[in-house]
Amino acid sequence: MIASHFLTCPACLVGRLQQRQITYVHVYNGTLVSVPNVSALQCDFCRATEYDTDSLQRIDALVGHSGPPPNRQPRQKGPGIVARPRVFPPEI
Ligand SMILES: [Zn+2]
Repeated sequence: MIASHFLTCPACLVGRLQQRQITYVHVYNGTLVSVPNVSALQCDFCRATEYDTDSLQRIDALVGHSGPPPNRQPRQKGPGIVARPRVFPPEI
């Protein structure tokens, strides 16, 4: 848990860090992972974000060391794009 009683933002030294639930987005081994409602402190001025370490540890435990399964579809084999012959209108 993060104590957030009017902490001054260490990035801009102007804004104040506020407790928020935001979406954590990170790329693990080429796969985009988006986790909504992660506890974090976010600056109300420059939007610098400091995620809750407990939440990040849980996300890392879920993703694991090998990362999430790839979200890429295997390439389909087939003719692919076939060029059509151009058909011009007949001359009059
Ligand atoms: Zn700031």
